[in-house]
Amino acid sequence: MTIDYKALQAIPQREEPYHIVVTAAHHDDIEFGVAGSVARWIREEGATVTYIIITDGGAGSNEPDIRREQLVERRYQEQLEAAARVGVDDVRFLGYPDGQLEATLDLRRDITRVIRETKPYRVVCQDPTAIFVHRGYVNHPDHRAAGEASVYAVFPSAETRPIFPELLAEGFEPHKVGELYLNLTQSPTHFHDISSTIDLKMAALSAHVSQIGAGEDFENGAKKWLTQGNRDGGAMVGVEFAEYFRVLKFDEERESWYKEEMERREREMALK
Ligand SMILES: [Zn+2]
Repeated sequence: MTIDYKALQAIPQREEPYHIVVTAAHHDDIEFGVAGSVARWIREEGATVTYIIITDGGAGSNEPDIRREQLVERRYQEQLEAAARVGVDDVRFLGYPDGQLEATLDLRRDITRVIRETKPYRVVCQDPTAIFVHRGYVNHPDHRAAGEASVYAVFPSAETRPIFPELLAEGFEPHKVGELYLNLTQSPTHFHDISSTIDLKMAALSAHVSQIGAGEDFENGAKKWLTQGNRDGGAMVGVEFAEYFRVLKFDEERESWYKEEMERREREMALK
């Protein structure tokens, strides 16, 4: 599939205050993927943000002598620091075993609980449909499981009263999410200009020392290739640095899918 980047729309700025929930399989997924956008939504739109880190991070090392519990604790601290660097102080750790995640009902319920509690307008998660990415990456199955559970937590579980009656018993009433943003997607519909927050994004990423090492470019070069990737992404849409999302909106009156598709094609033609 080829993506017509010129036809992608910029994410519009929101006027009224709102809450965002960002879910991710692993510690550092958010920093690699969407922290530039998160920082901008907080700084420029006054958004408040909750992170949900689904696994315990215990598979984040291939060193034979590292103790899993030590790594879990270290990555917990690194994630709190990374979140704080972009202004996020609400981080939930669900503690599922890293590397073996499945999109179970238990996981969906755990995510639904946080959505009903914090009532986000926007939920950001990983695109569960991405299996083969470009020519050299098989998407991690934890990312797909995290994405699938998150999507179905947003719809139908968060807004539908009879699903998970045990959450009602805990006091969590249904909540309808307004927008779903999928990252790590192969079908982006929107880009977000992160030129004003790329430095914050890199500062957040640099907190994950156990994963990327310390030092100016970190030991494994992650800063360099991620910066270049965001720059290349920006060049596709005419800004300095960009992140990409597939955006679904649930709170808009729609005339018809066909009309929307016609408008998209007209935009595309106008750009040619
Ligand atoms: Zn990951």
